Amino acid sequence: MIREGDKVLLIDRRGKRYLVTVSEREFHTDLGILKLGELVGKEYGETIISHRNEEFRVLKPDINDIIAKMKRGPQIVHPKDAGIILAYAGISPGDTVIEAGVGSGALTIFLANAVGPNGRVISYERREDFARIAQKNIELAGLSDRVTIKLKNIYEGIDEEYADHIVLDLPQPENVLPHAVEVLRPGGYFVAYTPCTNQVHRFFQAFQEYREHFYKPRVVEVLVREQEVKKECMRPKTTMLAHTGYITFIRKL
Ligand code: SAM
Repeated sequence: MIREGDKVLLIDRRGKRYLVTVSEREFHTDLGILKLGELVGKEYGETIISHRNEEFRVLKPDINDIIAKMKRGPQIVHPKDAGIILAYAGISPGDTVIEAGVGSGALTIFLANAVGPNGRVISYERREDFARIAQKNIELAGLSDRVTIKLKNIYEGIDEEYADHIVLDLPQPENVLPHAVEVLRPGGYFVAYTPCTNQVHRFFQAFQEYREHFYKPRVVEVLVREQEVKKECMRPKTTMLAHTGYITFIRKL
């Protein structure tokens, strides 16, 4: 049952989504005004009607809804890339993940969701303004119980003595290799997301010094070709989110 203070997702007849907090206030849309207090006591899946008699479906938001609507600082890791990071590194409930940088907190939210209430995500970020945005976004997703943001440059070292995995989205992941060999458990993954080929190249030059500590590397790029589904024709959409980044996985021996 929906209560005051809950975050709910409203979907109008056109498929437009709104993320709102249940309260006594009014919410204005181009399809009319909604009295959000009327949501109290409803079940997810029910509807709410605007003053123009337009119907909005009420759903419980998931992390993708939160990420789509949350405030952004720097560019986020998109779901297509987050999915492969979670799957290839086998990030599981109860894991301790060290992450940097937190940025807008999108990847942090995927990681925190995967490690569950008994896991931990420790996220290093060197910019206070981004750390603040991320903290709010993680709270919005209801995952702050398992995330710690540290205002710190991870190139200078990792405070923790143990990590199941290290996941990086920053310009020079090779600078974290010397710290990773100290804290990463055998079998754990070092994952680096980098947008450019020269970053991957630079990483592997530095990696030569550490290769005895790791199982053979894997580098992937994820392309998702969404389909346009119409009654008379199904075909690939003519636009797509193409290149975002290269994802490097190395596993600690
Ligand atoms: N993965 C994030 C997301 O999905 O929202 C976006 C990360 S953003 C592209 C890169 C972040 O790394 C920036 O916020 C930047 O300030 C941070 N950063 C860069 N170098 C860092 C370092 N050495 N230590 C900690 N944070 C760093």
